[in-house]
Amino acid sequence: MEIFYLEKKMRDTTSLSSIAGVYWSSRDMEGFFIGNHHFITFIYESEAQAKRIAEKWGIEYFSEVNDKSMTVYYSTMGAGKGDGTNYIRINFSPGADRQSIHEIAKEDNTSYFSSDYDYQGHRAPYDLASPAFSSYEELMDAILESVSNFNAHFDAGDRVKYSLIDENCACIVNSIFKVLGYSSSDRQEMGEFWGVDWGEEDLISDRYLKAISLVGNSSTLELHIEGCEWEKLINEEHRVHFDTVEEAITQGYNGCHYCLNAYDTD
Ligand SMILES: [Zn+2]
Repeated sequence: MEIFYLEKKMRDTTSLSSIAGVYWSSRDMEGFFIGNHHFITFIYESEAQAKRIAEKWGIEYFSEVNDKSMTVYYSTMGAGKGDGTNYIRINFSPGADRQSIHEIAKEDNTSYFSSDYDYQGHRAPYDLASPAFSSYEELMDAILESVSNFNAHFDAGDRVKYSLIDENCACIVNSIFKVLGYSSSDRQEMGEFWGVDWGEEDLISDRYLKAISLVGNSSTLELHIEGCEWEKLINEEHRVHFDTVEEAITQGYNGCHYCLNAYDTD
């Protein structure tokens, strides 16, 4: 694949459509400039597209004006520790990501003494997904669906513990592109940056990026998310499917300690 670098085109383009797309991105980490924080950047083809995506998924979009006086609209998303826990949640457009985009928009935005979040971004062509998407907007929708599934698992108590070198920001980006069908060789190229990367070839279970499917054990009255190791052990005659956690709880079920910890009351 041919790598398209956002940071090389951002300052001097006069055409939004030439840079619009989805980027596997990295920036310097706070307090450790040689290590990379990985995240995803959307560069919208128009403000109308930014509004459409933002309203559909309940996220914000931001803008920068480049050296050619063109306004660029974008959002970012990436893994961090959620709600004071040591477990991963996916956050949208945090200040440090926005600072890194800001610094590549104009020549005079970087200086030796500035707080420095050097940005690198490789565009992920939408047609390299399998099955292929037909536009970047379709790819953006699919990524946001995976992200919203991941956060729904977090909210239910089905969480991924943060680890600096394995289950981290880069591993989450890699896992999202994997469930969308990007090959491991394309992912290796897209996720390779100058500086130190950790976890960019690690993966979490696909289930965290898929819609929650609930399975109860009618014998023990334990409720699980499909894919939990304990769910796999339920005998066929004891398997009951539920649409919502509330419905199961009304019928006397209790959340599994491992996969539905937020609903474990005994
Ligand atoms: Zn479980």
